[in-house]
Amino acid sequence: MFDTLSDRLTSVLKNLRGKGRLSDADIDATCREIRIALLEADVALPVVRAFIAQIKERAKGAEVSQALNPAQQVVKIVDEELVDILGGQTRRLNLAKNPPSVVLLAGLQGAGKTTLAGKLAKWLRGQGHTPLLVACDLQRPNAVTQLQVVGERAGVPVFAPEPGNGVGNPVDVARQSIVEAERSQHDIVLVDTAGRLGVDEELMRQAADIRDAVDPDEILFVLDAMVGQDAVNTAEAFRDGVGFTGVVLTKLDGDARGGAALSVRHVTGQPILFASNGEKLEDFDVFHPDRMASRILG
Ligand code: GDP
Repeated sequence: MFDTLSDRLTSVLKNLRGKGRLSDADIDATCREIRIALLEADVALPVVRAFIAQIKERAKGAEVSQALNPAQQVVKIVDEELVDILGGQTRRLNLAKNPPSVVLLAGLQGAGKTTLAGKLAKWLRGQGHTPLLVACDLQRPNAVTQLQVVGERAGVPVFAPEPGNGVGNPVDVARQSIVEAERSQHDIVLVDTAGRLGVDEELMRQAADIRDAVDPDEILFVLDAMVGQDAVNTAEAFRDGVGFTGVVLTKLDGDARGGAALSVRHVTGQPILFASNGEKLEDFDVFHPDRMASRILG
């Protein structure tokens, strides 16, 4: 994960080791290298600019420290700024005071929503919750069955339209699922919605209609990290079309560069809550900005 970026940053910072004091020219040169590393990692340009400006300002203004040598000081600043760009503090899932809480999953087709729904359901069950999965992706032929398979693996029931009643209307299914959750005492409803291959109006409208019908406590935008900074455009379209309160990054296992992960928080203003890094249900965790930054800096 993010190996290229990680290697580049560690080698740039290693070059500072042994220097008794850092001149402004040293800091400028280091920032130039960091800038290239970030751009090669496919981090969005406004994010790179903001990041470099912060590093420069802080490194040049840093007091001489008793505890840290100049190189260590720069590493500390880069680490803190990475944590910041990744969202600062770990953000917990927002739950309703009166259950059931409703979590809506939105994103492009293939982003990993259905897989993520199963992972999140399993994780929530492990936390002592009693989730209900809801199949509102009625577009993709196999989506309901796929969610049922995932639900079975996660040990979590799936609410889906009755077979034989036609395709069904996802907004009705979402609405009915809340009644069902109240009836059978599920404390969290996880709604899987339909995606499209690209952003389109119909997709946004359907997701927005479901949102209006169930008044979610959390709308999670599921984002395939492998698409790099293209992710930024998709994220902006979902932010404007549906709105979301948090991001889940998927396929981090296949993302050597890190551009989406490092850009999405800054660009959308919304935090990353979870990360998915494989096809198995266990390949999932809460996203901790500080741990991710430490991993990147090796
Ligand atoms: P959806 O269309 O958004 O519901 O996407 P799916 O959940 O069907 O996932 C699309 C494909 O991505 C499937 O083949 C999944 O197995 C795969 N996938 C999902 N999450 C991950 C992940 O974190 N890592 C990897 N390597 N593959 C994933």
